[in-house]
Amino acid sequence: MTREWIINTAKEREQELIKLTSDLIRIKSENPTGTQREVVDFVKSYLSGAGIEHEEVSVNPEYPCVLAKVGSDEGFSIILNGHVDVVPAGDLSRWNYDPYCGTVTDKLILGRGTSDMKAGVAGILFAMKLLKESGAKLKGNVRLHIVSDEETGGEFGTKWLCDEGYADGADACLVAEPTSNSTIEIGQKGSNALILKSYGMPAHGSLGNYKGENAILKLAKVLEGIGRLHNVKGRYSKDQEEALANSKFIASQKLQVKGIENVIDHVTANVGIIKGGTKLNMVPDYCEAHVDIRLPIGVDTDELDREIMAMIAESGVSGVEYEADWKNKGNSTPMDAAIVQAIKKNAEKIWGIDVLPAYQWASSDAKHYRNLGIPTIQYGPSNTEGIHSYNENVDIEDVRNAGMIYILSLCDLLGL
Ligand SMILES: [Zn+2]
Repeated sequence: MTREWIINTAKEREQELIKLTSDLIRIKSENPTGTQREVVDFVKSYLSGAGIEHEEVSVNPEYPCVLAKVGSDEGFSIILNGHVDVVPAGDLSRWNYDPYCGTVTDKLILGRGTSDMKAGVAGILFAMKLLKESGAKLKGNVRLHIVSDEETGGEFGTKWLCDEGYADGADACLVAEPTSNSTIEIGQKGSNALILKSYGMPAHGSLGNYKGENAILKLAKVLEGIGRLHNVKGRYSKDQEEALANSKFIASQKLQVKGIENVIDHVTANVGIIKGGTKLNMVPDYCEAHVDIRLPIGVDTDELDREIMAMIAESGVSGVEYEADWKNKGNSTPMDAAIVQAIKKNAEKIWGIDVLPAYQWASSDAKHYRNLGIPTIQYGPSNTEGIHSYNENVDIEDVRNAGMIYILSLCDLLGL
């Protein structure tokens, strides 16, 4: 009975979900440089209006988090996570519309944050509201984690919540970050910084080819060998093989570059920053390079360390050191976890397509929950082209379906 009421009400009131998404878009919450106060207050007043108890917590008052709970203290406990900050709109002349218009067309909702990830946030808020309104006796509870610091590192958001124990006792977590409708993200690579440092001997620039030791040229030689780090592979257990195969298939479909499927199970090393030298007329005695190293699941970091040392040795230069602390490992949730199976079943039913659990090549806040041993997935509405770019939008059908998939899955997991 209650399940039917919730599903029918969600259908009847889908305009409410569309409007909620649009309302969130019209609140500018850029990070960096903007303020999160207005959007956080909006979320709080939405929860108040729904009769859901909530609290604001923060380590940095500029980036508050909102927590809420519906259901009983006992039983299966599910966290719904979303961020309300957005990346800046950037060059306004590149937009075909006002990035904060929130306009609803016959097919789309327009604006910065539609896909990343206010439509997802709207979906989880709407699902919680309906669960509360139904008055259902849940065999467990739904906990809301809304954060406002994700787009610039996230230390005041999900990481902090997890460190402070706010996620303790959870049995599952759904992060409503954008995915394609046919993919559930159940794992990801770990992102780490490798810093290579080269030391030389200063001299007057006019004598550069005769005297001194140029630290920039030394490091350039080492960096020629960076490609060898890409040969280091992850390791997967038997029950991770299906998700690995799905991930490779998705990567080659989406990215359309020959060999790109290897991004999933190989280390990638991107030299992102190089700094060295003081003045044009001085032989530089110091240079450093910052390399973004992405670790696949199960990688042996000792092997990676050996490869870095071999890369330095093979360059033939001396006086090069490196610094790395492999603290962000690849992480994953088992395919048979209840949250994975619930979202898969309902997404396949609503969309009428195969939905594949897979690992992503990037990383996200999901890792903080997985590090606590909580089975965590990402599944959310999106049109990926506009994310962190111009003319961001989302399909109304995606928003409506994601909302329904959340509701059906929560009903399944909470015994309705
Ligand atoms: Zn996001």
